[in-house]
Amino acid sequence: MAIDFYSLAVPSIATLSPYRPGKPAGELERELGLTDIVSLASNENPLGPSPRALAAATAALSRLERYPDGAGFELKAALNKAYGISSDRLTLGNGSNELLNLAARAFVRPGDEVIYSQYAFVAYAIAAKACQARAVEVPARDYAHDLPAMADAVSERTRLIYLANPNNPTGTSFSDAELRAFLDAVPERVIVVLDEAYTEYVDPDAGLPNGLDLIDDYPNLIVTRTFSKAFGLAGLRVGFAVANAQIADLMNRIREPFNVNAAALAAATAALTDEEYLQQTLEINRRGRQQLSEGLERLGLEFLASQGNFLTLDLQRDAQPVFEALLRQGVIVRPLQPYAMPRHLRVTVGTEQENRRFLDALARVLSC
Ligand SMILES: *Cc1c(COP(=O)(O)O)cnc(C)c1O
Repeated sequence: MAIDFYSLAVPSIATLSPYRPGKPAGELERELGLTDIVSLASNENPLGPSPRALAAATAALSRLERYPDGAGFELKAALNKAYGISSDRLTLGNGSNELLNLAARAFVRPGDEVIYSQYAFVAYAIAAKACQARAVEVPARDYAHDLPAMADAVSERTRLIYLANPNNPTGTSFSDAELRAFLDAVPERVIVVLDEAYTEYVDPDAGLPNGLDLIDDYPNLIVTRTFSKAFGLAGLRVGFAVANAQIADLMNRIREPFNVNAAALAAATAALTDEEYLQQTLEINRRGRQQLSEGLERLGLEFLASQGNFLTLDLQRDAQPVFEALLRQGVIVRPLQPYAMPRHLRVTVGTEQENRRFLDALARVLSC
């Protein structure tokens, strides 16, 4: 090639590190010829999808010649019923990751500052840099968002702030009072995106905020939610954002006309009615998090307190060889090198049997 196309690209995109997903089980199968792989790498729901959601998605497949409902009427009606949010405040997304990007595209100009925390979900850095923003990463405190420091980092040029509660990959969280104090300190011209991908898993007594309750008080707030985690629909890609009607209107203008596919719309609508599935999911997670915590303690390993469906453990040594040895045992977890946490591994809470497979494999790996 005569031209280096990287040199033609928007500089902040040419230098971007791409998102590194969890290793797919199929890939490990091909590489090592293993079967019976335990995949605890991507915080997916070990229960599989809700039977109701699955039936709805399957029914939608008989009408694949049709475009999906670009307005998402039924899903928005179901969200209104479940959470009391009118449709003019909603934006549906192809996963909540799309909504994180839409927020940046709607508001961030080249050279604007976008703030997020050290160890925050990497999608924020990618969204900011793709919009040619100046990314301002505020040092974390004990791996958690330092909200007062993040408020102090706001300047004249700050346009948007990303928060995750609980955060991935650390599982850390902040309280309702801490969030309100932060929102009170941030000027209204600064958009605050509160990513609540794991909110369903949160211990109800832990004092965490429900972002949906804050939308009326803080017009600059965008709350994002997903069907990928507790609702078990990661493969279909669907999420939603809640904000004041002006912000929702702006985000809806720039999304693709049919950004959420028909099967996803149908499945998400049905999933919202399956309370039993959700309760079962939360129960599996409570028990599994306990099982993993106890197992890790028995191995003498430290981990961060998590409000999510995963635990992040500190091996106190380079985690990459441990990650690779676990792969050879057919267990996939997530190394956190991309987060500059080279000694940590993140493990998703699985079924009792999956958790046991992980703990047994880890014990074997660490003993040799
Ligand atoms: C998994 C995750 C999401 C959800 O992404 P989707 O695009 O909805 O699948 C969003 N934010 C965080 C912090 C996550 O870990």
